[in-house]
Amino acid sequence: MCGIFAYLGNKNNASQIVVEGLKRLDYRGYDSWGVVEASYGKLFLKKKAGKISEVMDLSSFPKGNIAIAHTRWATTGEVNDINAHPHYSSDESFALAQNGIVENYELIKKQLLAKGYKFVSQTDTEVIVRLIEEKLKSKKKLQEAVRSAFKELEGRNTIILITKNGEIIAARNGSPLVVGINKKTDEIFISSDTLSFANLVTDVVVMDNNQMVILNKNLDFFDITSGKRLEVKPEKMKLHSGKTTKGKYKYFMLKEIHEGPFVIEQLTKQNKNNYIRFGKAIKKAKHVYTIGSGGAGVAAAQVAFYLRSIGKIQAVSLIGADAIDYIDLFEKDDIIITISQSGETADVLEVLEKAQKRGVIIASFVNMPGSMITRMSTFKFMSESGPEICVMSTKTFDAQVAWGYLVAKTVAGEYSDGVKNLKKLSISMKKYLSQSKNHSELKKIAKTLVNKESIFLLAKYQNFHISREGMVKIIEASYKHGHALPSGDLKHYVITLMEEDVPVIALVSNDVAKSDIMNAIDEVRLRGAKVIAISPEPNKKFDKYIKTYDTGETSAIMNLIPLQLISCYLADFLGNNIDKPRNIAKSVTVK
Ligand code: GLU
Repeated sequence: MCGIFAYLGNKNNASQIVVEGLKRLDYRGYDSWGVVEASYGKLFLKKKAGKISEVMDLSSFPKGNIAIAHTRWATTGEVNDINAHPHYSSDESFALAQNGIVENYELIKKQLLAKGYKFVSQTDTEVIVRLIEEKLKSKKKLQEAVRSAFKELEGRNTIILITKNGEIIAARNGSPLVVGINKKTDEIFISSDTLSFANLVTDVVVMDNNQMVILNKNLDFFDITSGKRLEVKPEKMKLHSGKTTKGKYKYFMLKEIHEGPFVIEQLTKQNKNNYIRFGKAIKKAKHVYTIGSGGAGVAAAQVAFYLRSIGKIQAVSLIGADAIDYIDLFEKDDIIITISQSGETADVLEVLEKAQKRGVIIASFVNMPGSMITRMSTFKFMSESGPEICVMSTKTFDAQVAWGYLVAKTVAGEYSDGVKNLKKLSISMKKYLSQSKNHSELKKIAKTLVNKESIFLLAKYQNFHISREGMVKIIEASYKHGHALPSGDLKHYVITLMEEDVPVIALVSNDVAKSDIMNAIDEVRLRGAKVIAISPEPNKKFDKYIKTYDTGETSAIMNLIPLQLISCYLADFLGNNIDKPRNIAKSVTVK
């Protein structure tokens, strides 16, 4: 889940350029960072534990025109300066950075130790470096040694290395790697995402797994298995619609919550025929699964809910990391509907690769253009809502569940009604967000949660998975314990936790679940809990009331806005790093 950024061009501030690139990538990892520049036939390296935003003094770098940089999200070895990437080869002739986990690193390390190799860090990355050194004993060319070493690595890995002679070699078999070319200025960039160099390049190559790129005076692509050169045609760089600055907002999270109505509206403008064709395929499928990880897993559960309740399809949702355990269940003509922000989620990709071999049809809803999951999909949908910078998903989650709703409506033969309802939803969300009194009320409520240890969320039917998303946001943003429970299960166990002043956020919509939820509210209040209700109408049973709009079938999506805002304001009161919560990164491209 690291960020990789490299530059080769005619500007002589390469280290500065790659650091700027890393700053745009630091949603991917922010444990440590490092830069290495090649100049005068030597490498100049600097690396450090800590956030990229902490200014690194680059004055020790010569004015070179080729450099690579890395921001780490530690998986193997603690977070410290030594474990930070890039890692030098013993003779300092090259330095290497990695994204991923070498699953067989212990075994390779043992073999290398037996051969006398010394290790200075605890990382699996250094094992790759030493393995390349070992390969260099029998291979004449570095690129051959890299290729041979890379083939021995198990797991999903992407590596990049720079030599003292000013050559860059990168290989992908896991997390994303894109090459950006500026045909006007003759500059080349390599990065973990297109967004980080979007306005610096004219053309782009999204590398596939099992590909290697070599960048010196030329730019050449190779197949890793065969070593054969590949003919690769760069595509024109398409610019994103979204801005990557906070604008008037204090946090990206707040800005992105406000973009919720826009992302919903975008869905209504997408190609109708794609939905109709997909709706037909779902109806024809033997089994329908929805799959995602983390927040996207919660969205996948809501998509399955809409497919069952509106589309009348027996859809089952699975967690990305678990689905692999039932791979034998997947059959030809099943459909897996994949929900992913990055389109690169490692545990989901693993399932899709295996399922595709079994004849399963892949469909996806992704936020990042050119991603691996999109490229694997027969039915591909994009949220087209611009980049999401905050590590926590808000507008992306809105888009994921609203898309699922529209797909379910299509399956039910009601695409146009679905579009109409999403347009209305978008207007209601906008209206809610534009009223300052809503924000001041939510801030007041958030303040009452500052000293609470746990926050419970109570919901049923259309709101249940939405309450789980509220829980995810509370946990991510406030680091408090959140607990979302289906109201029906309350009396089976969670009721033991209900006592004086425990906060319970209840989602009450005008639907079939309303009376059950109201009963559950009675039960928790009898034990002293204080109910904060999000509902279109007030009720004397609510201790605190957050007014929302009744948008019919899409009411649950409407409820996301107050839930997201409460978490944001709560985290703000707590002084947390809202856009980069501790320990998490945005795209989980390692297992
Ligand atoms: N496994 C490597 C490490 O722990 C790379 C982690 C990453 O992707 O940032 O250093």
